[in-house]
Amino acid sequence: MLQSASDALPLAGPRGAPIAPPLPEAALGEARAAPARVMPGRAASSGAPRVVIIGSGFGGLACAIRMLCKGYRVTVLERLDQPGGRASVFTQDGFTFDAGPTIVTAPFLLEELWALAGRRFADDVDLRPMNPCYRIRFDDGTHFDYQREPQAMIEEVRRVSPQDVGGLHAFMAEADRCFRLGYEGLGTVAFESLGDLFAALPAMVRMRAWRSIYQMASRHFKSEKLRQVFSFHPLLIGGNPMSVTSVYSLIPSLERIHGVHSAMGGTGAIVRAMARLIGELGGEIRLGADVARIRVVDQRARGAILASGERVDADIVVSNADSAWTYKHLLKAEPRRVWTDRKVERAAYSMGLFVWYFGTRRRYPDIPHHMILLGPRYRELLGDIFDRKVLADDFSLYLHRPTATDTSLAPEGCDTFYVLSPVPHLEAGIDWASRAEPYRQRIAQMLGDTVLPGLSEAICTERYLTPADFESRYLAFKGAAFGMEPRLLQSAWFRPHNRSEDIRDLYLVGASTHPGAGIPGVLTSAKVLDSIIPPAARVARAQAVL
Ligand SMILES: Cc1cc2nc3c(=O)[nH]c(=O)nc-3n(C[C@H](O)[C@H](O)[C@H](O)COP(=O)(O)OP(=O)(O)OC[C@H]3O[C@@H](n4cnc5c(N)ncnc54)[C@H](O)[C@@H]3O)c2cc1C
Repeated sequence: MLQSASDALPLAGPRGAPIAPPLPEAALGEARAAPARVMPGRAASSGAPRVVIIGSGFGGLACAIRMLCKGYRVTVLERLDQPGGRASVFTQDGFTFDAGPTIVTAPFLLEELWALAGRRFADDVDLRPMNPCYRIRFDDGTHFDYQREPQAMIEEVRRVSPQDVGGLHAFMAEADRCFRLGYEGLGTVAFESLGDLFAALPAMVRMRAWRSIYQMASRHFKSEKLRQVFSFHPLLIGGNPMSVTSVYSLIPSLERIHGVHSAMGGTGAIVRAMARLIGELGGEIRLGADVARIRVVDQRARGAILASGERVDADIVVSNADSAWTYKHLLKAEPRRVWTDRKVERAAYSMGLFVWYFGTRRRYPDIPHHMILLGPRYRELLGDIFDRKVLADDFSLYLHRPTATDTSLAPEGCDTFYVLSPVPHLEAGIDWASRAEPYRQRIAQMLGDTVLPGLSEAICTERYLTPADFESRYLAFKGAAFGMEPRLLQSAWFRPHNRSEDIRDLYLVGASTHPGAGIPGVLTSAKVLDSIIPPAARVARAQAVL
């Protein structure tokens, strides 16, 4: 019986019950196997200031590790029954499904977290490089294998469109410039003032940030297929390639420099390792702790009030919840100068996702770990999703087959899959209760007719998530899968700041704050917080003076 994941995953345990450390067996999985090591002197003293972090997405967990290393006592409050947020894990009938992120592109950011704690990431997580990074299949049945190695990439471009080899060099040179200026230069700047914005303008001009990434790709490639191959990346972080700034060409550069990786055991293995590290550093993760509102005293965040009525006090509050949700719902009663309900409502949000998770009783050895299936329309389909907000008859899909790398994620002789289709967010008014099943069937038909022959007979377990589930499960504003859309005028200074503009001692981390969505983005947002939250000792000294 097919059901949506939010129906099928009731929260475990009483809401608000303290569960960690240590985390329950189910949440930790195989991460428990490693012996617990606590860094000497790392555990904060009992009198140290306390940080409460609302949400345990990648951003919240990374922030927790950084705050513990700064000497704070840390409590993470997570409403779900497991850590990870969009990166949570469903297990069903012997299959393991990563619910969200699967492509890991900036391992150095994870290594950096472990290094801060005096540890080695590689001791806890087995990350494997993907080669090729992924396959892009066009609607005419031909494909492009996206290569990391430069010579292999040149050969692949030559195979598809010989006249575009020169364009590849020019495109990658520009993309590398965007990576240096946009990511390395501006990614970790907190963008707290207009001065920060003005200081960034020369770099924005050098990156010609006013162009869309599709315009940039079109300038360098004559082949429409290659224009799509080198412009689709913003979809991975919720942006429309037709309107998102060309600065996001930094993603192809990031992939080339640092590679595309997958974790053995799935992305969930990274989450479990982060959660375990937090426990070992003396932090606490409370699952089933649903924050109803942020407690504000004299315009300062002073903790959280749970749905159960329990009060959790803190000196600093970090929200890893959607920034729109944070302002509109968790600070509902507070006067807000900048992020008013009107401003939150009027912002543009990323697309929604329809994600269908399924297991097959047979294997499909020809399907790579990561595959993108582009449909017959590109620009027009993006217009349907982002502008006209209608559910189109055709689709472009991302197909994930983790068992290509790690067979332990399915029973023997079986394959684990998920397929993801970008769709309009909830503003479109699509009735997902009635539209989801026919939509799933159309996707199944398309996959069965193309890359997964015999699919309908092979399926032995399945479930799906719709934008309505994103709203109810993750409290995603408008069911948007990646928070606020990463348009130029919703980026950097224009995005909700990492240090709240409205409430003192409130900070934001995660996809809907600077720099944006995706694992690299949210890990970087935790790094930004590290640069603006003072060390615990300084806060403690200031409190002692008062
Ligand atoms: C299907 C899918 C595929 C993706 N694929 C990739 C990929 O391959 N590579 C990549 O880099 N990125 C990918 N992304 C994007 C990436 O997963 C996200 O941008 C990132 O994980 C978001 O992390 P976050 O820190 O913003 O927190 P989130 O994951 O959004 O977690 C926030 C947490 O806060 C909790 N919370 C919210 N409100 C409350 C409250 N009131 N009380 C208590 N807890 C609360 C939620 O339950 C949730 O656990 C994908 C996203 C999706 C949805």
